[in-house]
Amino acid sequence: MISRIQLIDTHAHLCDPQFDEDRSAVLERAQSKGIQWIVEIGESPESWEKAKQFAEDSHSDLKTSFHTDWGSQALRTQLQKPLAFWTCGFHPHYAQRMDQFDFGIMTKFAFSPLCVAIGEIGLDFVKSTASREDQISLFRKCLEVAAELNKPVVIHCREAQADTLRILKSFFGGMGRKDICPGVIHCFSGDLGFAEGCMDLGFYLGVDGPLTYPSAKNLREVLSKAPENKIVLETDAPYLPPQGYRGKRNESSYLILIAEALANLYGKSLDEIARITTQNALKLFRLHEYNK
Ligand SMILES: [Zn+2]
Ligand SMILES: [Zn+2]
Repeated sequence: MISRIQLIDTHAHLCDPQFDEDRSAVLERAQSKGIQWIVEIGESPESWEKAKQFAEDSHSDLKTSFHTDWGSQALRTQLQKPLAFWTCGFHPHYAQRMDQFDFGIMTKFAFSPLCVAIGEIGLDFVKSTASREDQISLFRKCLEVAAELNKPVVIHCREAQADTLRILKSFFGGMGRKDICPGVIHCFSGDLGFAEGCMDLGFYLGVDGPLTYPSAKNLREVLSKAPENKIVLETDAPYLPPQGYRGKRNESSYLILIAEALANLYGKSLDEIARITTQNALKLFRLHEYNK
């Protein structure tokens, strides 16, 4: 049975080898929980072709071609699996490799029609072994690609709030284009000042499994002050499983648990939160043409 709830997993890594054995079943479970769209994250040049193919395969199931009514509600409810899009990114973990890299290749990949954003890109001062300087120049380079193609960006930021905000301001501050959202701070985990700075620039905040952790008081405190029209839901599967699945592989069907936690936080119904966050995600990735 198709759930009437419609959700978008705005950030997943389902091409990860951890899903090689049962990817199809994972997608079917997601669909059964109301996840109708998935944004697959291409995080490194090696992953782009796979992510692109993953998105294309989901669309070819519709047996219609681009610019017809593929993705229409009527067609989609006949599908057993969510419709996938992908993003073209260069994670800060790989920043030391940028010197030998031809960014023209990135532009070419990202130009493909199902690529909805540039990301994930950003700064990671916790886990990345690359120097801060390398990370910052890679981040800037990727933002330039996004600007050239006029695509939104998916930002990864860990323990790098000040630098991230400074760089985002230099690119998007005073853009004067409030109609178009510049992107999302994925897996948001910062303080209120960072949240407000990003939202001022027009960014959405991506909310994941940690919202469900009993210890995540600060995160809930910050998010409770953010308006719900600035929030999108994401699993980051196979990483960051919600409470109840910690230590296990995460998957897109668990998005519903994050939606429930957010509904609790805002004192709204699950239906209402699903409707609002799905609208936000459609806006973020400019997918309205796929949701007729
Ligand atoms: Zn990330
Ligand atoms: Zn990710």
